[in-house]
Amino acid sequence: MKKKDTNTVPNKNVEKMMKNISVRKELPEHVYILHLILYVVGNVVVNSVANSSKVFFFAQKPLPISSFAGVFSSIGNLCIISLVILFRKKGFITSLILLLLQFPLILMSILKSQTLASVSGMFTNVLTLIAIIAIYLNNVKIEKYQQKVREQAVTDMLTGLPNRFACTEFVSDLVAKKSRFAVVSVDLNNFKSINDTMGHDTGNKVLSEIAERWKNASETGISGTADLIFRQGGDEFAIVIQGYKNEADIIRSIRFYETVLEKRLTVDDCDFFLSASFGFAEYPADADNVDMLFTYADAAMCECKSISNGEHILHFSPEFLKTERSIEIEHKIRAALENNTIFYYLQPQYDISHKLRGFEALARLRDSEGAQISPGEFIPVAEKVGLIDKVDLTVFRDSAQFISKLIGETGADITLSVNVSVRHLMKNGFIDEIKDIINKTGIPAQQLEIEITESIMIDSAEKAIRCINDIKEIGIKIAIDDFGTGYSSLSYLNKFPADLLKIDKSFIDKMNTSDSSKKYVAAIISIGHIMNFDVISEGVEEPEQLETLRSIGCDYIQGYIWGRPMPPEEAEKIVMEAFGK
Ligand code: C2E
Ligand code: CA
Ligand code: CA
Repeated sequence: MKKKDTNTVPNKNVEKMMKNISVRKELPEHVYILHLILYVVGNVVVNSVANSSKVFFFAQKPLPISSFAGVFSSIGNLCIISLVILFRKKGFITSLILLLLQFPLILMSILKSQTLASVSGMFTNVLTLIAIIAIYLNNVKIEKYQQKVREQAVTDMLTGLPNRFACTEFVSDLVAKKSRFAVVSVDLNNFKSINDTMGHDTGNKVLSEIAERWKNASETGISGTADLIFRQGGDEFAIVIQGYKNEADIIRSIRFYETVLEKRLTVDDCDFFLSASFGFAEYPADADNVDMLFTYADAAMCECKSISNGEHILHFSPEFLKTERSIEIEHKIRAALENNTIFYYLQPQYDISHKLRGFEALARLRDSEGAQISPGEFIPVAEKVGLIDKVDLTVFRDSAQFISKLIGETGADITLSVNVSVRHLMKNGFIDEIKDIINKTGIPAQQLEIEITESIMIDSAEKAIRCINDIKEIGIKIAIDDFGTGYSSLSYLNKFPADLLKIDKSFIDKMNTSDSSKKYVAAIISIGHIMNFDVISEGVEEPEQLETLRSIGCDYIQGYIWGRPMPPEEAEKIVMEAFGK
């Protein structure tokens, strides 16, 4: 891949950057004026000292004041040289003018005095002139070199965009100026697959092409805001947006870059359709320092990647930040999936007369010391980082294998309930995964039940109903988990092709504390029955709760009172006792 020559490609992004990142800052104007004053004073004193016939005594020896003329003349020359060194072109021009002006003055002095005493001054002047020209030319050479080094330090060699270093410097500068801006973290989606399938050479060309599009787009200014694009490395870019009024303006600008990116891109005779995830954080509203701004924009971008609702642009929100604990848990889940150490417990479910109905399979994870990590802690992490599908499937497959074998051995009429996250259920291919498990484990579909939380009815009712109908077609039962905790309306419930309502533990907990709480649970059971659902109460711990539930017509019970979640071997004993021959 031919590298872009940044010296020949005019790149406004880099040019803007260079203006912002100057290795050498201009000295203040007053230093320049001070030099001029010193020069003028030096020259005035030289003239009056040179023409003075006064003498003063030093160590009892006579010292003519005129002998100090050389000292003041040197001060003048020093000012001239230091102007060239400190103020480069401007200093050089000033010095040149001052020196050239001196020649007629010296000439006049020679003519006036009719002696050649001032000729030495003329020589000094010529020498100073040569010196400042030499210094200036050398300076120009050094500056050119510095400029090149600086340009390379702030430019990404592949794309010609300003690089990560430039981005950090630029953002630091804006923070120092306290100007309002947004940092957008951009990561291409599935770029790795281009590298993997087409090779790095093609990958590089794709990156260059994207950079070119964005560069051109930002330079036209049609996004409506002042934007600068940076390549952060790999398939990561950053956009710094300024000159916007509100969040809608930022999003509009980002959408503009998104549209530019999503147009067909042809490289090496192959068409690519790319997309990216954009996360942004604003200064000073979200964060007031450089590190936090980048961290927050990255967190929003990662959040974008982890959600599956098709949104590609997100504004930072504190909940996107992963805590250290959740990163640790994510590692543990990944390791457990790799080493096949995610396991499950079975919690028995009974009908109200204490006859075994079946078991709910509950995922379990142990840390390296052997202590269990609560599902309340690791399931939400698995959902957030997109590992829940794998966890669900592992539990589903292993528990189905076990229960299928048990059913085969005992002929037990029991149901296995498995939890499936909403995200997983909506995925294309979910039905095939279930069919595959049924085929491989041989578990009868009629003895399987899938538990879905009530939230599915609120978030994505229509699509969910289609998925659930597909599941039911195979013969699998559907339970609505944690019922009562969401805000699902009766009309949705009516449309929902479920078989079982699971009343959430929180209602069972307070059921016996007031008459109204008890009536509430009774009402849920009645509604469930009217809609032809069976009703199970979860988290039943006390005999009084059991009595109440029996009196208000609850069909099934799941809770510590009759059985905690237990290892499969213990569940096997319960099945043997109930159905063993
Ligand atoms: P859930 O589906 O509502 O599961 C019932 C939870 O209540 C289980 O907690 C169970 O141990 C607990 N429980 C049952 N009876 C009692 C009781 O009488 N008293 C008390 N105090 N607790 C009781 P667990 O196993 O900690 O699971 C927590 C949640 O994690 C589950 O709530 C479920 O939402 C999720 N989960 C567990 N396994 C899986 C899985 O394989 N896939 C998915 N997607 N989620 C899972
Ligand atoms: Ca459940
Ligand atoms: Ca539940």
